[in-house]
Amino acid sequence: MFGKILIANRGEIALRVLRACKELGIATVAVHSTADADAMHVKLADESVCIGPPAAKDSYLNIPALLAACEITGAEAVHPGYGFLAENARFAEILIDHGVKFIGPKPEHIRIMGDKIEAKKTAKALGIPCVPGSEGGVSTDEEAARVAADIGFPVLIKAAAGGGGRGMKVARSPEELSSALSTARSEARAAFGDDAVYIEKYLGTPRHIEIQVLGDGQGNAIHLGERDCSLQRRHQKVLEEAPSPIITPQQRERIGETVAKAMRDMKYLGAGTVEFLYENGEFYFIEMNTRIQVEHPVTEAITGFDLIREQIRVATGETLGYTQDDVKIEGHAIECRINAEHPRTFRPSPGKIQYWHVPGGLGVRIDSAVYQGYSIPPYYDSLAGKMIVHGANREECLMRLKRALDEFVVEGIETTLPLFRELVVNDDIKRGAYDIHWLEAFLAEGE
Ligand code: ADP
Repeated sequence: MFGKILIANRGEIALRVLRACKELGIATVAVHSTADADAMHVKLADESVCIGPPAAKDSYLNIPALLAACEITGAEAVHPGYGFLAENARFAEILIDHGVKFIGPKPEHIRIMGDKIEAKKTAKALGIPCVPGSEGGVSTDEEAARVAADIGFPVLIKAAAGGGGRGMKVARSPEELSSALSTARSEARAAFGDDAVYIEKYLGTPRHIEIQVLGDGQGNAIHLGERDCSLQRRHQKVLEEAPSPIITPQQRERIGETVAKAMRDMKYLGAGTVEFLYENGEFYFIEMNTRIQVEHPVTEAITGFDLIREQIRVATGETLGYTQDDVKIEGHAIECRINAEHPRTFRPSPGKIQYWHVPGGLGVRIDSAVYQGYSIPPYYDSLAGKMIVHGANREECLMRLKRALDEFVVEGIETTLPLFRELVVNDDIKRGAYDIHWLEAFLAEGE
């Protein structure tokens, strides 16, 4: 086992990794920008190193500073969390070249999945069902027109380097195609410095269903069931649940085994998520994330696995040590992303937290790095915390979520808590009857 791990992140995920390290008896190194000197992950770590000024590009994305921090502290491995450098294959390679273990997948797998065109080709070759669309990228209007005529309108233009829902444009008719193509291309160039795009059939009323996987890089891999992340705003997840209210055990077993087999064939290492859209009983691959995800705790709640611990364990070279039969799904879990944002306009609301009281009790987990008196800096994402509630079944989970939301008190900043209080009593949510467009329609109604 590693003696010391450097956590190349901030916020709740830095704390989440730190907690896993402490349980394993591993010493921790926190890194932070000058804006984060008072952050919880810095206070709780065994050692800390300031790696630069507030802007992420000068601190949390600053590879030379992170390498120097490893060197100074003697950290043997780096956990990247999510975001920042978590899916940067070059970062993983540089660490490896300097004799530091990267707690994550092999760089070649990060690279393939980071390019959505390559990712789709790979998924298809591994027997994973994909959204119908172009074979690879499209470069001309003529090519786009041919593909669109073939798969039928509406179509979605997507950036190969896409992420965070950016660089996506719908074309509903041949007339809209050319302008959608050029808008998507310029958005992609601005956001990612890469204007490669591809085309997919635009699915009308799908759900977003994703499968959690875990591999040891030696040909052993399992799946840990699905998460339903259909409740989205601007293609960003707001609430996630596991299992999905609409997936049967047979469907779970089938798609789970397809994905686990693909991971075995790839010799995938570490935790990963294979994302699908699900419509009319069919799964369509959209992308794979080669990192731990924000919503991983709902899977932990229903399986009893500590996914961060497993990431660390397999990164040392240990084999998985269990099989699919050892994975049992129990009960139901829901996660709410409590953002420091206005609950309707979603305008960021950084600033000082005057009062912070979190709920507790049976089945309630809070993953957060904020505290009373802490000021949320304006430089990073607005996630103030996550509340994960577990119940014996979905009904109990919702009941418990409602009472936990009632206990939660935050003052000084605006949060998305009021939105969740509305959602938890909504009939569609209670029935589990929602697709990826449901939340935006709900928000528009209230306007
Ligand atoms: P990103 O990496 O930018 O998050 P994804 O490919 O994961 O992009 O897609 C994000 C979201 O966009 C999905 O959860 C879904 O809501 C929507 N989406 C993506 N592809 C399609 C599609 N072919 N049809 C309809 N909606 C889609």
